Amino acid sequence: MSCHDIGRGMNSVTEVVIEMFDKRELTRTAALKLFTALKNGVNWCDGNESEAVESIIDCRCGKCLKKIKKNEKLYDIFKCSMFVTGKPWNIMDNYEGDYGGWYFCKDCFDEIIKEITDGKIAGEEARRYIEENEDDL
Ligand SMILES: [Zn+2]
Repeated sequence: MSCHDIGRGMNSVTEVVIEMFDKRELTRTAALKLFTALKNGVNWCDGNESEAVESIIDCRCGKCLKKIKKNEKLYDIFKCSMFVTGKPWNIMDNYEGDYGGWYFCKDCFDEIIKEITDGKIAGEEARRYIEENEDDL
């Protein structure tokens, strides 16, 4: 059984990090590095990474950290893992950068797909896969 308390605790720090980022007290690079540490921190117990960044995951891009407006869409990169790698959960294994949540704006999503596939798959194809299979993913 997983521990939810450690995720809640880490998320309380996530809220401070994003507040400091918004006030320009932290650079984006520093904030992303802290998010990686916060997600890893749940492994001190049997926690869930998604809970460590819960307050930012579906309202901010995980890379540029911009807030998403009502008509903008974020793409959950794990939803195209099968399409890109043939396995459901390993899409970010070869990505070396730090990130907060794994929902990305169109531009960051495309950039990450390009980087992890060495340009073999276009972000547009991966986004189309997500949109066409949304109900099944
Ligand atoms: Zn972005």
